[in-house]
Amino acid sequence: MIDDILAKGKSTLETITSMHWWTESLLTFTTTRPPNYSFVAGQYARLGLPGEHDAIWRAYSMVSAPHEEQLEFYGILVPGGLFTSLLKEIKPGDRILLEKQSFGFMTVDRFEDGDDLWMLSTGTGIGPFISILRDPSVWEKFRHLRLVHCVRHATELSYQTQLTDLARNPPTNAPFPATLQIIQSTTRDPAVAPPRLSGRITTLLENGELERAGGIPLTEKSSRIMLCGNPEMIEETRRLLHQRGLRPCRRALPGQFVTENYW
Ligand SMILES: Cc1cc2nc3c(=O)[nH]c(=O)nc-3n(C[C@H](O)[C@H](O)[C@H](O)COP(=O)(O)OP(=O)(O)OC[C@H]3O[C@@H](n4cnc5c(N)ncnc54)[C@H](O)[C@@H]3O)c2cc1C
Repeated sequence: MIDDILAKGKSTLETITSMHWWTESLLTFTTTRPPNYSFVAGQYARLGLPGEHDAIWRAYSMVSAPHEEQLEFYGILVPGGLFTSLLKEIKPGDRILLEKQSFGFMTVDRFEDGDDLWMLSTGTGIGPFISILRDPSVWEKFRHLRLVHCVRHATELSYQTQLTDLARNPPTNAPFPATLQIIQSTTRDPAVAPPRLSGRITTLLENGELERAGGIPLTEKSSRIMLCGNPEMIEETRRLLHQRGLRPCRRALPGQFVTENYW
């Protein structure tokens, strides 16, 4: 099966180089990267694992930055999920298929202007924002970076140390890099101390808590917004942003927000 897929020339066979389990169902894994595999921070790859009759392919956002040697992905095991039932069993040294092309339009270059970048994520939707934050360009393009990560339980707040490190040591030599603030929210665990809030992103947007925690207002003039993860959160947030006069970026029309639904 693998030989037939590779013979079509659309994919390469990569090796799993490491795995880290954050919880029983949340994992980070890295793979080898083909020398000519290129992507922009915020894009996703298509990964394939051999199933019973054919390979099963799924989209996975890159967590690694474009300049890094390996590819890194952050995933959740979906109960009964076709792909993730196979992913659960993989170990370092195992093989995984990678489509040669990278995909997606949730990239910083979609914004022509703006001072502040808000990255709103649920669950594993934080992955592409880590890639964006590991890339120097975003630190040079904006003044303020606000990363919002909403999960059910505090144990699902992965990548905290890495994000705190990025906030302290931005990956750029620019004289005045943007400042990063990480705002976490849990929907089933209570808030602890700011900036860890409690509640859904949409609730925090409606009641003003998000802006209070971020210390800057969300406005059409200064804010650019990326939304990633749960499609319900994206749909509802899109509606709230519309009410404030913000519009999605279209191919020929500059806007204030871009989105990536995970299902
Ligand atoms: C553009 C894009 C990028 C993606 N990037 C990632 C990523 O970086 N990490 C990742 O874990 N998944 C990501 N996904 C989702 C991923 O492609 C698969 O849907 C997921 O791995 C489940 O596959 P499965 O075959 O195991 O489950 P399926 O049998 O395909 O079940 C799909 C169902 O699982 C649930 N589900 C799927 N993805 C998630 C998720 N991330 N969090 C919570 N519930 C989910 C939804 O209820 C969905 O209806 C992305 C999807 C898209 C479209």
